[in-house]
Amino acid sequence: MANDCIFCKIAAKEIPSALVYEDDQVAVFNDLEPQAPVHVLIIPKKHVANVLGLKAEKELAGHILGEVVPALVEKLGLKDGFRLVANTGAQGGQTVMHLHFHLLGGRDMAWPPG
Ligand code: AMP
Ligand code: ZN
Repeated sequence: MANDCIFCKIAAKEIPSALVYEDDQVAVFNDLEPQAPVHVLIIPKKHVANVLGLKAEKELAGHILGEVVPALVEKLGLKDGFRLVANTGAQGGQTVMHLHFHLLGGRDMAWPPG
């Protein structure tokens, strides 16, 4: 666990969250400040700083994108579409430095993002 990492603490259940899905590698919970009717965060339980850290975690990357996301689309009723976002680094708007994919849905999405 990385020191003082809020998402490591959520993964370890030291901080409570509204868990939507969990397995041995991943936790998924509702965002505290939802930006859409469905807004969950998909995090690895292991501390990975951002998507670039997946270069060394290809099995985890495949698990998240190939298994967890499709399972959540089914479970959360997002078959008509959704947005999957990984804000990365300061310029990308990442505020929590533990990899998380925002999965947003339940409304029409606009483009470009802010
Ligand atoms: P980002 O700006 O992409 O790094 O996203 C961080 C997200 O984490 C924001 O959407 C916050 O609302 C969310 N967040 C921060 N702390 C918590 C928490 N304790 N439980 C759930 N979501 C959180
Ligand atoms: Zn962490």
